[in-house]
Amino acid sequence: MADQGGVTRPIERPLASSRRLSVTIPCYNEEAGLPELYRRVTATCQDVVGQDYELILVNDGSRDRTWDFIKSLSERDPHVVGVDLSRNFGHQAALTAALTLCSGERIFVLDADLQDPPELLGAMMAAMDEGADVVYGKRRTRAGETMRKKITAKIFYRVLASLIDFDIPTDAGDFRLMSRRVLVALLSMPEAHRFIRGMVSWIGFRQVALEYDRQSRFAGETGYTFAKMINFALDAITAFSAKPLRLGLYAGVALLGLSWVGILYSIISWLFFSTQPGWTSLIIVVMFMGGAQIFMLAMVGEYVSRTFVQTKGRPLYLLREIVGGTGAPPAS
Ligand code: UDP
Ligand code: MG
Repeated sequence: MADQGGVTRPIERPLASSRRLSVTIPCYNEEAGLPELYRRVTATCQDVVGQDYELILVNDGSRDRTWDFIKSLSERDPHVVGVDLSRNFGHQAALTAALTLCSGERIFVLDADLQDPPELLGAMMAAMDEGADVVYGKRRTRAGETMRKKITAKIFYRVLASLIDFDIPTDAGDFRLMSRRVLVALLSMPEAHRFIRGMVSWIGFRQVALEYDRQSRFAGETGYTFAKMINFALDAITAFSAKPLRLGLYAGVALLGLSWVGILYSIISWLFFSTQPGWTSLIIVVMFMGGAQIFMLAMVGEYVSRTFVQTKGRPLYLLREIVGGTGAPPAS
């Protein structure tokens, strides 16, 4: 079907031919910042690669005039490819749409809010010229983000790193430059719950960090609600580690050991002392066991629900429209 997209069923778009560079940007309610984004990204691209680039802007079901702006850009500028999703599918799915449709030999992944300076492209391209396959931005500082976001992000990336068996950079987002062979590997991974920065780390090859200071949003507000962040964190952990399931094993063994002590204690009390009604200890045991069981059940449920979604094999997003970008690349 022509209007279905997804990693398992990639949609074809009429490609002129491959560009040297693709810039992929998911946009959700970003109308206020888009003109400035376009200006800075265009200036940087022309500076670094001349005319041989494309700008893929994906509208992830925005409620403002983001799509109108993208569409008008694509009419004015042949570098711009606008992609409209049928509704809001979330950051990672929108980015996957852009990555599936892009044609560049190198792929620059950027957020729409200018928190990550596009001007670092030059330095990233230079690192790739020296043999890197992935150059990722590592946040030295994060301006304009709430204390809660900074702390939860710090804890999350460290917990994640301790749970998985390969290196995943802490303090890095999706802001990065990738080679085509890394992208091909990424698109060959069919998982529905996508934690793209983790998947790229898993792929390997030569990955190098480029430190930078993260800015505050240029305009608009974050599209990540607290609930979306929790979802994102659970996707990341369950996608890369089965260790949380093993928590149940450890807890079970420990509780079993403890219960032997309890049994011994109650038998000795029964034999040699007058036994107490024992309400307090009973309640403690019941509550603790109940809590432990529900926690582990919920943990199992997280994996089961993801298996369920994966077995359905639905496309990750649906496309409404693709505009622009069909002009032949300049002979350069
Ligand atoms: N975004 C999206 N869909 C969403 C939420 C966010 O495409 O449902 C985009 C958003 O426009 C931005 C990027 O994903 O380009 C990162 O989102 P945001 O800046 O809101 O996240 P934060 O930087 O606060 O983590
Ligand atoms: Mg942001």
